[in-house]
Amino acid sequence: MEKKTEDIIESSLNALAEDDSFLPDLRDESRQQAFKSLVSILSTPNHVNKSFLRIALENGTVVRIPAFRVQHNKTLGPYKGGIRFHESVNEDEVSNLAKLMTLKNALHDVPFGGAKGGVIIDPREYTDKELNLICKKYVQYFSDILGTEKDIPAPDVGTSAREMDWMMAEYKTIHPGQPYRGSFTGKSVINGGSLGRRAATGKGVYFTFRYMMHNFMKENITWMKDSDNRFARTAIEHYDRPLTIAIQGFGNVGSVAALQAYQCNYLQNKVVAVSDRNVTLYNSDGLDIHALIKYGKKHKGDLPVDDKTLAEYEIKATVLNRDDLLEMEVDALFLAALEDQIHTGNLENIKARLIVEGANAPVTEDADQYLSDQGVLIVPDILANAGGVIVSYFEWMQGRETQFDTEDQIYEKLYDKMQETLDTILPQFFKDPFPLRQNCYIHSVTKLSTVLYRQGKLY
Ligand code: GLU
Repeated sequence: MEKKTEDIIESSLNALAEDDSFLPDLRDESRQQAFKSLVSILSTPNHVNKSFLRIALENGTVVRIPAFRVQHNKTLGPYKGGIRFHESVNEDEVSNLAKLMTLKNALHDVPFGGAKGGVIIDPREYTDKELNLICKKYVQYFSDILGTEKDIPAPDVGTSAREMDWMMAEYKTIHPGQPYRGSFTGKSVINGGSLGRRAATGKGVYFTFRYMMHNFMKENITWMKDSDNRFARTAIEHYDRPLTIAIQGFGNVGSVAALQAYQCNYLQNKVVAVSDRNVTLYNSDGLDIHALIKYGKKHKGDLPVDDKTLAEYEIKATVLNRDDLLEMEVDALFLAALEDQIHTGNLENIKARLIVEGANAPVTEDADQYLSDQGVLIVPDILANAGGVIVSYFEWMQGRETQFDTEDQIYEKLYDKMQETLDTILPQFFKDPFPLRQNCYIHSVTKLSTVLYRQGKLY
């Protein structure tokens, strides 16, 4: 889990002082001061809300389930961020994820602040009725702090449109006569959700990868930086063979990104490996992603786990251990599962030259530092996986206007927005001495500090 956001930003500040070309806006001394103040503001969330949800299980047992809603910062608009249902979620993690939401929204000019929720359960161990109760209780316990203009949750790991539908319904019951369509995003389409929301994060992840490759090819540069962090000759200089991709996670993000890669005619690429919580599947000629998605639809989203099943479904792949995927000899690694997947224990074994963060914080701080020093390009979470919250924003707008875009319009708007961000970030990245994550953080913090400064809230 990324814990030292402030340190990364702080260290960039010193370097910035030496570099006249970087963000001229920041040359102004008072704004520099504002920037520094904001770094300290960012280090703590505005509110940490915690409750124990009291639930009677179907077998009659009463349990108390810890639940959080961390509201990190609302400089740019209402608090916004998903609610995670996972057995290992904790207050620190939710706080860090809330901070990432603040930075993510600022980076992509989405007019929201940052928040995150968490409920410590393994949703697979609860019945649908119990999960419904947990969702209702969550809204009851936090009903005062949630709302269309206050704090707008969305799905995250372990939650989906179903949970958002349940939660919005409860919100509506608790607040009769008040606007409710924008109180939750990521709802089902029939319940006021947006077309394209479910696939938005995975589509955005692949779009980011594709657009970056396009830019690198156009500029005739490669994606490694040398020890001084300047662009250097790299292992992948020629684009005369397909780029190989391995994707960790085959859920809502990983499977969509995999399908995008599989169908992409523009880039020559090949998804040679995918993994989920059980297995890694490998095929050096490229996996049939269509067939795997079709299989998953019938089997709770899981991948086939043995040769017999693969043969039965006519899928050509070798079955490997789940964690083998991370250390494979591939060009690009997409991390679309959970946080802390690349860490001090495995960082030396990572062979990919490009890592795309589809999940939030999948590379630990130590690993990030080590790999960046080695010239590995890490496309950070806040840049790559913002598709979800961007389409959440469209959903929130549509809820206000009660007018809805088509799926094609949504994707067009999504790609335009992500391209706009990339067109701001990449030229700066090519010029300056920082890793891409640092570039993104600096842009976000610059935006936040400038807004606060203009509002007269930072001196
Ligand atoms: N949970 C997603 C994220 O981490 C989406 C958040 C949202 O739509 O508010 O970005």
